[in-house]
Amino acid sequence: MASHIVGYPRMGPKRELKFALESFWDGKSSADDLQKVAAELRSSIWKQMADAGIKYIPSNTFSYYDQVLDTTAMVGAVPERYNYTGGEIGFDIYFSMARGNASVPAMEMTKWFDTNYHFIVPELGPHTKFSYSSRKAVSEYKEAKALGIETIPILIGPVTYLLLSKPSRGAEKSFSPLSLLESILPIYKEVIAELKAAGATWIQFDEPTLVMDLQSHQLEAFTKAYSELESSLDGLDVFIETYFADIPAEAYKTVTALKGVRGFGFDLVRGTQTLDLIKTAGFPAGKYLFAGVVDGRNIWANDLASSLSILVGLEAIVGKDKLVVSTSCSLMHTAVDLVNETKLDSEIKSWLAFAAQKVVEVNALAKALAGEKDEVVLTTKGIPVSREVGFFSANAAAQSSRKSSPRVTNEEVQRDAAALKGSDHRRPTNVSARLDAQQKKLNLPILPTTTIGSFPQTMDLRRVRREYKANKISEEEYVKAIKEEISKVVKLQEEFDIDVLVHGEPERNDMVEYFGEQLSGFAFTVNGWVQSYGSRCVKPPIIYGDVSRPKAMTVFWSKTAQSMTSRPMKGMLTGPVTILNWSFVRNDQPRSETCYQIALAIKKEVEDLEAAGIQVIQIDEAALREGLPLRKSEQAFYLDWAVHSFRITNCGVHDTTQIHTHMCYSNFNDIIHSIIDMDADVITIENSRSDEKLLSVFREGVKYGAGIGPGVYDIHSPRIPSTEEIADRINKMLAVLETNILWVNPDCGLKTRKYGEVKPALSNMVAAAKLLRSQL
Ligand code: GLN
Ligand code: ZN
Repeated sequence: MASHIVGYPRMGPKRELKFALESFWDGKSSADDLQKVAAELRSSIWKQMADAGIKYIPSNTFSYYDQVLDTTAMVGAVPERYNYTGGEIGFDIYFSMARGNASVPAMEMTKWFDTNYHFIVPELGPHTKFSYSSRKAVSEYKEAKALGIETIPILIGPVTYLLLSKPSRGAEKSFSPLSLLESILPIYKEVIAELKAAGATWIQFDEPTLVMDLQSHQLEAFTKAYSELESSLDGLDVFIETYFADIPAEAYKTVTALKGVRGFGFDLVRGTQTLDLIKTAGFPAGKYLFAGVVDGRNIWANDLASSLSILVGLEAIVGKDKLVVSTSCSLMHTAVDLVNETKLDSEIKSWLAFAAQKVVEVNALAKALAGEKDEVVLTTKGIPVSREVGFFSANAAAQSSRKSSPRVTNEEVQRDAAALKGSDHRRPTNVSARLDAQQKKLNLPILPTTTIGSFPQTMDLRRVRREYKANKISEEEYVKAIKEEISKVVKLQEEFDIDVLVHGEPERNDMVEYFGEQLSGFAFTVNGWVQSYGSRCVKPPIIYGDVSRPKAMTVFWSKTAQSMTSRPMKGMLTGPVTILNWSFVRNDQPRSETCYQIALAIKKEVEDLEAAGIQVIQIDEAALREGLPLRKSEQAFYLDWAVHSFRITNCGVHDTTQIHTHMCYSNFNDIIHSIIDMDADVITIENSRSDEKLLSVFREGVKYGAGIGPGVYDIHSPRIPSTEEIADRINKMLAVLETNILWVNPDCGLKTRKYGEVKPALSNMVAAAKLLRSQL
């Protein structure tokens, strides 16, 4: 029985790649240094999988930034503005596309399906000329081979690549990148030929778009692509990997009918109906089924007994030698290695499995299917006397301890959350009346300026937090240092003449972790990092039990900050949906239930802030959009409980308290009505990296009466926008939005930027707002 891993985290167990990348970008180390770290990471991952006994080990799952950008490099689709003149794409062009450079902004970044990973969106036009321009897949394959490890190179499939692309700047909006299928396939053929020459026997094509609601011409593209590629395969097996949701019946029919494809991978964790589909629609004879039973998106130990029974059922359909035990998707969406978790107690630890442990689970399942369950029963004269605890029985014990542990249940919370059901929660007055009442108190100019919350986090600041956590400095010293930081940020904003201030979030390591640490029902890892984009990683908390708020979480800092200025200071909270979507969530109750519990905790905080005299409270829902189910049929239900959870947090405040929310890099147009239904007074939205797509929805006539601040510049890039450029952006917004509802702000928090970038950028931003005020 064979085992397979769809993909593996690249960052390393202690974020080695992040530090190597950032040091290289800062000019502190050489390209050689970076490549060396990368090669070490790759080899240790391959060895680990080989040692665990995995048969199909992936290669080309590593990336210096993003696997979609790697594919863009592979096919040579470099947008014109980067002045690429041909040849193998090096770090220079590659990182310019990813991050921008002094003269050219970065390419757009967007969420990878419904995960918190972001990919660089390819830009293609009718004149795009593909050329084979990055041999990364082949060189990784060879690198592993040189280490004595046979791997399966992974490529993003041609159809998914094109479906994820957008029309390039010069191209018509109606241009369909999929029309380039004919011209991209020759590049894939070249790659396949080289991989074959290097000795590869299998290639994995990731085609996750197959789980989306595709139109028939899009489905036909798969048939076209893989029939065309078939001719170049001979002797080489390919399989198509899908993940993140059930594959629709139509798509299942289409791909399983592909003759040249030897196998198919399905996500049997998020895809809850695929199993039935396989049973009812059947599975093509002689083909391999890569059964994704080990969850790549969460940190819970697999329920091995239940997986085993699923696998046994599948074995009966596809045959013993054609069933491959696999992960539901790449393990890059989970944490790296539980071994490095020194602070978790042993009970919680026994409930968990990170990427390294999941590799072992996959292999254990494969062995168990082959009849090699690792349990030894010791007998005396035929009578069992003791049982050596093997992997499977330890797992079963952990599963049952999780079900019965008193740490998981809080009856009061269960009751309060249950009481919410069936009722609606809204502020009693409508938004325009509220805005009037607020304006009387706040007295803001038109085009008010603000920022999203965080200010740059310097080394010194991080050190202070670290030392306080490690008990190396006293509470008193810590409070003093944070106060100083807040005061610095307040003064700076006053100097710039920003209208609504923030305290800068210096006490926060991470916008979700900070709250999770103060709520009950959460556990924390030391090294449970997951890549978010580029070198940026997040460390999601683990929600293992019912959630409650033992005491106020942010009131002290917000009050302190407000006391330093006469301008309004925004209270700064993370919303329930974002806390949920950016955590590893318990899988023993519906997500909606967990979300309502968090909403009730945040509601208490909102009300305490208001009582402390905070007049503007921002409740970030940065991740609301990314939790949207991929399949249309499931979206309305999600939006309903997500938006409801947000409203629960602030339905109890006075009209004069201004509720802001903020959302990040996403495509909002399809959920604009839900955003309106959140009923916030002001929303600030990421915009500048999405090419002002957002504005088109208002151009098309959607009525928006609340305050809105589409980001006027991209904080993800070190580039400093000029006053003219920002003014130009604001003018574009004024063309579609009423003057009196428009806010001026960057598109996200400034945490990752340096003061050298933030100061001129904010100063230009305020200058632009003032320039326009004077012209109105
Ligand atoms: N308030 C947070 C910050 O400014 C919001 C971050 C986010 O949207 N991702 O950092
Ligand atoms: Zn943001």
